[in-house]
Amino acid sequence: MLKKSILFLVVALSVWSCAVDTKSGSIPHPSEYFGREIGDPGVLIPHSKILEYYRFMEERSDRVKVVEIGETTEGRPFYYAIVTSPENHARLDNLINMNSNLYDPRGVSDGEIQQIVREGKTFMVANHQIHSTEVGASQGALLMAHRMATGDDHEVSRILDNVVLIHVPVHNPDGQERVYEWLDKWRGTEHENSRPPFLYQKYVGHDNNRDWYMFTQVETQLSIEIQNKFHPQFTLDQHQMGSRGARIFVPPFEDPWEPGIDPALIASNNMIGTYMGQYLTSRGLKGVEWKNRYDAWTPARAYYHYHGGVRILTEVAGANFADELDIPFDSLGSDYQRLRWNFPMPWEGGTWTFKEIVNYHYTSSMAALLAGADLREQLLAGMAASQKRSVEPGEDSPFAFIVPYNQTDPPTATKLLQVLEMADVEIEKAQTSFSVAGNKYGEGSHVIKFAQPAGRFAKTVLERQDYPKIFMYEGGPLDPPYDVTAHTLPLLMNVDVDFVYEPFSANLTKVDEIQFPKGSVTGGRNTVAWLLDPRVNHSYSAAVELAKHGLTRVMDRFTVGGTVWPAGTFVLQRRSSDEMTGEMAGLVKDVASRFHIDITGVDNLPNVSLKPVIAPKVAIYQSYSPSMPEGWFRWVLDEHKIPYDILHYDDINDARLTNYSILFLPPGGGSPKMMVEGQTNVENSTPPAYADGIGEEGVDALDKFVQGGGTLYTWSGAWRFLQQYMNVDVKAVNDGLDRTEFNIPGSLLRVNVDTSHPLGFGLTDETAIFFRRDSAWPANMGDANVIASYPADDLLLSGWIQGEDVLVNQAAMVEIPRGKGRMVMTGFYPEYRGQAHQTYKMMFNAIFYAGD
Ligand SMILES: [Zn+2]
Repeated sequence: MLKKSILFLVVALSVWSCAVDTKSGSIPHPSEYFGREIGDPGVLIPHSKILEYYRFMEERSDRVKVVEIGETTEGRPFYYAIVTSPENHARLDNLINMNSNLYDPRGVSDGEIQQIVREGKTFMVANHQIHSTEVGASQGALLMAHRMATGDDHEVSRILDNVVLIHVPVHNPDGQERVYEWLDKWRGTEHENSRPPFLYQKYVGHDNNRDWYMFTQVETQLSIEIQNKFHPQFTLDQHQMGSRGARIFVPPFEDPWEPGIDPALIASNNMIGTYMGQYLTSRGLKGVEWKNRYDAWTPARAYYHYHGGVRILTEVAGANFADELDIPFDSLGSDYQRLRWNFPMPWEGGTWTFKEIVNYHYTSSMAALLAGADLREQLLAGMAASQKRSVEPGEDSPFAFIVPYNQTDPPTATKLLQVLEMADVEIEKAQTSFSVAGNKYGEGSHVIKFAQPAGRFAKTVLERQDYPKIFMYEGGPLDPPYDVTAHTLPLLMNVDVDFVYEPFSANLTKVDEIQFPKGSVTGGRNTVAWLLDPRVNHSYSAAVELAKHGLTRVMDRFTVGGTVWPAGTFVLQRRSSDEMTGEMAGLVKDVASRFHIDITGVDNLPNVSLKPVIAPKVAIYQSYSPSMPEGWFRWVLDEHKIPYDILHYDDINDARLTNYSILFLPPGGGSPKMMVEGQTNVENSTPPAYADGIGEEGVDALDKFVQGGGTLYTWSGAWRFLQQYMNVDVKAVNDGLDRTEFNIPGSLLRVNVDTSHPLGFGLTDETAIFFRRDSAWPANMGDANVIASYPADDLLLSGWIQGEDVLVNQAAMVEIPRGKGRMVMTGFYPEYRGQAHQTYKMMFNAIFYAGD
């Protein structure tokens, strides 16, 4: 099917190439160019063809320039197009420069700023289709691109004169192509429009729009590069939502706004969204809704808000991928059956077609561009106000954030600094030690001044969040948050960061590039053993390599050379022959430098209990109902060079499982029943190869695996499988409570960790964990060992909590011994979105603990 349609495209293309050569300069409409009507059922133009069309337009239009800036995770080209008038193209560097002066007004006079506001251009990024299964946005983008390249009406001229459009027609090319291939493959069969059984971004799937402050994925990094180059006044971010509400959502956003965002930007957001909704409504597009559901709390979706710009989210009602859906009026939500001030023209229901979806995407893109043109001066003034206040903040603002030189886990502290660096935050380094407010900071400490263009970004990711309590109405219940509420990186990564309010001076120089520590090895000829610190995440990467050279772990705290080492310290004893060959010493040196860690050589090893580290044999269960935590965990392991295999339902048998010491069972891959019995949905059914379950034989194989010494590790909701199929007779303490009694939609909570237990090695006694609609269990659970538990009070470290008492003194992570093996239940997300570096160790430890 797919091959046929590509062939068809190629034929259509060659026909068009001929036609165009004779009519030099003309650019056919995408429907003509591709020989298929854009918006017709099942017509989806893949990323590679959109790029081709853009290249085609570039050759024939002096309004379009295509820039390829890198490769996606799977190696596809990542590009954007600059679309503006030929006059603006000719002075683009100058325009970018003027805009940079708005973004960073230091050294720019008020007069110059006013001149830029009068004469500068609106920079707008259109970031289409970040979510690949929301299939309409890139198709509407094609229509918008064509009109911008060819139109000569008064709207297009106004836009071209006033706006520099930076167009990313497909934010996630890998996913867009793979999803389109999937839909194409099954079109016309009984599996038509079945959901793709894979994550549409290799690691993070739908979470790819939750990565905009951690920048873990290549596509996010490239997008940030675009932001930092152009400093857009606003970024259009097009999505699709459910089918039974509004036809399209445009800002204003719902409360709360994160308080670090400049008020002028909040007002700009309201202004653009209101303009766009008016544009759509006055052109007869029904069902426009302002202000509902979507808020502006987390920077994970809104990098722009901390860089002088605004995020304009649109959400168009979805249908059945590229096919229509019948939506009778009375099946719409009751709020959508009546006129409201923020929903002035209800939609009458009926057939919701793909053509309409594409048209809503296209028209809202045009509306955004016109807002950029008509509101140009106001938008530039808004950015100017925001950035002036960023570089000259008020008196009660922090003066600086200090990242002290001495950190428990230096490579992880470096990663935090690299996040700030990527976000255009200026970082300085102390050349000599200095003192502030009674604290002494060593040479090499990093200082981040708040007064700088991106200072607000640093503040929001470094501070603790205090999510406001908003009541539905006076005296009514709390309005629960739309999304997660905490993003405090020092807690997630266990990095010390101090907030300083009084101005101070120190011998500081600007850092050009944040670099990992070099790594070091101490000791010499008399060294009998090398010690690797279990508090350092990269030690676990080194341990993977050293496991085959006789690596061991110390089971208790011990002291050597006056230094106390925690339980779980990795010890590599030197063979006596090494004094001659130096092979081990060379290996240790190499590992220290590659993983940027300090390895300590000791001349004597006290009498401690050592356990051999067995080379890990890791498997991850991958459901065909794709799980984002599964993908994030794979990303964490790849980052740490820890090898693993992927198992699907048909791999869960005795023969396969004997190859592994630990099996990770991630949450979010469908219900336990589905895992065992397979998928049973009738409509849009999953193709058989992806639909089956592990069966009763699979359950037996897992039981045998554990009894025989394997570790079955579950996190977040995955423990339900143990409860329903593996005879773990326990209920969660929050089971059966409704959302008014207990609701933690995504917060950082404090737990006490048993750091003497092999699963708690290397953690701090008090650790921050990321809890999102998760579970806790009774502290006393028969023969289970409690690894982490909630304290008696002050559970909330950052974010929002309702029903804190439910968790007090209860178990957060437990080990259940079974036969020669064990099952682990972790009632939170230890891998949380590539951010929870501190709790990665709860998974790494399990890997090295397994099979002993
Ligand atoms: Zn979306």
